[in-house]
Amino acid sequence: MTQQTIAHYIGGQMTTGDSGRSQDVFNPATGQVSGKVALASRADVDTAVAAAKAAFPAWADTPPIRRARVLFKFLELLNTHKDELARAITLEHGKVFTDAQGEVARGIDIVEFACGIPQLLKGDFTEQVSNGIDNWTVRQPLGVVAGITPFNFPVMVPMWMFPVAIAAGNTFILKPSPTDPSASLLIADLLKQAGLPDGVFNVVQGDKESVEALIEHPDVQALSFVGSTPIANLIYENGAHHGKRVQALGGAKNHMVVMPDADLDKTVDALIGAAYGSAGERCMAISVAVLVGDVGDKIVPRLAERARALKVKNGLELDAEMGPIVTAQAHQRITGYIDKGVAEGAELVVDGREFDAGATGDGCSEGFWMGGSLFDNVTPEMTIYKEEIFGPVLACVRVPDIATAIQLINDHEFGNGVSCFTESGSVAREFGRRIQVGMVGINVPIPVPMAWHGFGGWKRSLFGDTHAYGEEGVRFYTKQKSIMQRWSDSINAGAEFAMPTHK
Ligand code: NAD
Repeated sequence: MTQQTIAHYIGGQMTTGDSGRSQDVFNPATGQVSGKVALASRADVDTAVAAAKAAFPAWADTPPIRRARVLFKFLELLNTHKDELARAITLEHGKVFTDAQGEVARGIDIVEFACGIPQLLKGDFTEQVSNGIDNWTVRQPLGVVAGITPFNFPVMVPMWMFPVAIAAGNTFILKPSPTDPSASLLIADLLKQAGLPDGVFNVVQGDKESVEALIEHPDVQALSFVGSTPIANLIYENGAHHGKRVQALGGAKNHMVVMPDADLDKTVDALIGAAYGSAGERCMAISVAVLVGDVGDKIVPRLAERARALKVKNGLELDAEMGPIVTAQAHQRITGYIDKGVAEGAELVVDGREFDAGATGDGCSEGFWMGGSLFDNVTPEMTIYKEEIFGPVLACVRVPDIATAIQLINDHEFGNGVSCFTESGSVAREFGRRIQVGMVGINVPIPVPMAWHGFGGWKRSLFGDTHAYGEEGVRFYTKQKSIMQRWSDSINAGAEFAMPTHK
């Protein structure tokens, strides 16, 4: 069977570029190659940047309300085609269809936010800062900006970036993950149908080579990155070295503290969903349960029962709770961590390596399958506590009190998301104040902020000064200009040599 190459989208046209390089794309549920994705060369990146640069002046000059109208049309089209997008995600990522629908819905939230751009771009004005002088600030777009995104949210994470960037008047180049590239082209098509001028939104498929070309390109003004911490760190440093504005969101190890007074039924539901949903391949997945006092003995058996009963099957089946692991390599990495956890002395209560792939659905026995794993008595020195596993593995750590729980979390190198389940207002308040993490949930397991609040972790989970989307996103994609103005009838004759003051 000849497979069509998943192409780039440059200047309003699909093209496979001139690199001659490509990479297999898999359906993780079947383990079969489902397509090939083009991998851009530097020349392909140059072509995309040139297209985006050419489109910039007219787009930046388009009144914000007309840019917003294009986004409104895009929003309408997204709502019509959202299940197509969700299906494309499931086929290449593996996450269950209902979860993919949720991903698309959270991306749509950001488009709704970006439709408010005329209000968001309103500047500040001060009349009469001195005699006959007014002073105001405006925010203007940067130019060509690029987004480099991970495999785990092929629709939502690009939508953290481009709706805000293009609403603000920039032109955009998306470099999606080559693991699940198809959704990016569906998005490009919907934007074109919405009336977005060619060149405003471009997709460059690729790997390291295209990312390096974007970092080094003098016409790219800013880079938004979401992915693992080592690459985020690299992009932040190299991007800054090349004079670019950079926001680089990295990896995570998200803890959920369970206090002895927590409602156990609700806590078990929350932990199971947050640890094993999307096979743990979420940057906000809970991968550590911090069990305070005597709650461990009560909750671990219940978690084990639920982890064993997870419905792990082809994500296209509507009752599936967990799909396959994204790639064979990721499967191997996660299995290696489970081996290491056992070798370092953690108690493996449920072993996802024993999962029977035959139970996953027709034609799926060769897919990248594993069940949920549960470790108890994990300690902070263990590798499975320190490192991001990014798979369906929940590590339980037992601590005597809330102060120890807070210290443990604050000592971790990552600070993306965190959660505390308790019925005590004062514990909740203290936890929210003291915890060194960017996104905090109280009785909310995965506290992903809404579109107008902005998303970002602390410590080695984010490099840069601004969070993604929300008003921080608008600030990231615009630069402030201050204009001070007076007219000749208020200008005094004669040169002024002293620093002007408020006269
Ligand atoms: P990744 O870092 O491997 O890849 C992310 C992007 O960087 C991809 O587009 C990839 O092609 C590119 N890339 C990979 N290696 C590169 C290199 N050496 N030089 C330049 N570019 C390179 O991440 P992933 O495996 O696709 O995604 C999972 C990771 O993303 C996890 O660590 C997860 O925590 C993180 N993540 C973080 C957030 C967040 O908001 N903090 C959100 C989603 C995912």
